[in-house]
Amino acid sequence: MRSQPRVGVLAIQGDFEAHARALRRVGAEALLVRRAKELDGLDALILPGGESTTISKGMQRLGLYEPLRSFAESGRPVLGTCAGAILMAARVENHGVPSLALLDVTAVRNAYGTQVDSFVATVDPGAAPGLEGLRCVFIRAPQLRDPGPAVEVLARVDGAPVLVRQGNRFAATFHPELTEDPRVHALLLGEGDTAGPAPR
Ligand code: GLN
Repeated sequence: MRSQPRVGVLAIQGDFEAHARALRRVGAEALLVRRAKELDGLDALILPGGESTTISKGMQRLGLYEPLRSFAESGRPVLGTCAGAILMAARVENHGVPSLALLDVTAVRNAYGTQVDSFVATVDPGAAPGLEGLRCVFIRAPQLRDPGPAVEVLARVDGAPVLVRQGNRFAATFHPELTEDPRVHALLLGEGDTAGPAPR
């Protein structure tokens, strides 16, 4: 990847501005994406958290399903967080939404129930090297179930996968853009091993 990677953030709805700020913190150039043409020349892409039904309607209206799929198929890294993770899943349960089917997992929307709107938790011991102690912010979060054989679970909370990878595709059920810890964004840029420990 070039020295200042150009990373797109899908900017239909949700907390894309927070992702743009997090990307700048890891030295990337952040570009907001609302049209297929804006995917040209990007090195990586983020699908942010928000409301997956709303984002999917925008994706349909803007004709983005095929361009986003081809972007992922080109091998460039894609990270979906929370609603973005739902949109990447092959299967969506609990109010299905048309997804991009980029990851062999089942996303269960609002899996922690309506009683638990949001919470912060530390990843279980045994997370992938470099991700130990990661603090995760969950907001009406989904769960990712039934990961297929090609899916690597990089981190879990209470036994449930919260960060997964299938080749160039990453999905987090939490919001890495809402903490100061740069490790998930760095991972997307292929710098995961050098990102160092989380700042306190
Ligand atoms: N519950 C939301 C959905 O199903 C996702 C929440 C989020 O992105 N913080 O779309």
